[in-house]
Amino acid sequence: MSIAKLVFAPLSYTGWGSLEHLLPEVEKHSPEKILVVTDPMLEKIGLTERITAPLEKQGYSVTTYTDVVPEPPLETGERLVAFAREGRFELIIGLGGGSALDLAKLAAVLAVHDGSAADYLNLTGTKTIEKKGLPKILIPTTSGTGSEVTNISVLSLETTKDVVTHDFLLADAAIVDPELTVSVPSKVTAATGIDALTHAVEAYVSVNASPATDALALHAITLIGRSIRKAVEDGKDKQARIDMSSGSFMAGLAFFNAGVAGVHALAYPLGGQFHISHGESNAVLLPYVMGYIRKSCVKRMEDILTALGKHSTGLSEEEASYKCVEEFQQLVKDVGIPSTLAGFDVPESALEDLTRDGVKQKRILARSPMPLMVDDIRRIYQSAFDGV
Ligand code: NAD
Repeated sequence: MSIAKLVFAPLSYTGWGSLEHLLPEVEKHSPEKILVVTDPMLEKIGLTERITAPLEKQGYSVTTYTDVVPEPPLETGERLVAFAREGRFELIIGLGGGSALDLAKLAAVLAVHDGSAADYLNLTGTKTIEKKGLPKILIPTTSGTGSEVTNISVLSLETTKDVVTHDFLLADAAIVDPELTVSVPSKVTAATGIDALTHAVEAYVSVNASPATDALALHAITLIGRSIRKAVEDGKDKQARIDMSSGSFMAGLAFFNAGVAGVHALAYPLGGQFHISHGESNAVLLPYVMGYIRKSCVKRMEDILTALGKHSTGLSEEEASYKCVEEFQQLVKDVGIPSTLAGFDVPESALEDLTRDGVKQKRILARSPMPLMVDDIRRIYQSAFDGV
């Protein structure tokens, strides 16, 4: 095992009712003007008011920004950055799924930088982040991305996705209250839940895995494995929501430190070219990527099977690793996500373009326990299309 650099930040509050820590956290910064970045759905169902009303009651000046769409395109990020610069805010609160949180942290940092968001993109940007920016508090309302504990902001481009990444994008505080996820619709619960599972699985088999990330990843897999079906079936199941919230938080910490790999690298072009949500893109690819790289991490696949609560007694490591892939397939099916690319209306003619963009994600692919070259990527997309 090599030396691991671990960042288990930021200061986090977790658990049912942990939203009560918002006011004291805001007070620490004594902000004159607060910007709340959230999405229109959360405003519509009254979740946004749950955080703005107590702040306004305390006399804070609060501006709510709702120009947020799922899988935000670069232009959405550019608009928010301009708004944040103009408004001279002193604190940014992100409330929502990964889409709102990613935009909130991007705006908090770029509010004090020059240039466009595009200038800071990982693949094509030319500028470097140099300043911490405005303080930020991130409050997830989905159990999926782990964005509240990572230093990444994901933006959608024309045919793929790219990230802005720097430790200055880490939140000053994260508040992970499962109560805020009760209203998440079943379809989103399924997609975000498999996203969280994918974070934990990819972190566990990553070449950068370490004992600490292993512990987080395996327990996340256990919590998600035992509760995802229940949360999808009945969003009001309190214990299932608590498990999914803790699971996604721990999976976030695990993948932030150990990295994700092939599933995410291939999911980005799928999201970019076909506007399939991040969770669903990961879900449809998870069994195929893990099936393809299985032979490079047989023992780890057996561990994942056990963490999922499935018995491997009497099975050889090899058999258990195959069974783990079958479990992924079954889980994706059980939560109602199509199990092939064709199920998302992706035509076979698109596989070459997907491969072209997938192979560009070199930084992510580097964490795969099996090197994935262009032919491997082409084969994986083909099997996800054929369903075999
Ligand atoms: P999302 O933020 O796009 O939200 C999906 C839908 O769920 C939206 O329509 C939203 O209105 C709705 N929603 C959210 N919370 C709700 C609630 N409590 N009640 C009712 N509806 C609710 O989905 P997501 O999967 O959380 O985020 C996806 C984005 O996060 C993608 O852009 C993805 O690339 C990014 N991401 C970021 C990281 C990171 O580390 N920064 C990691 C993984 C993914």
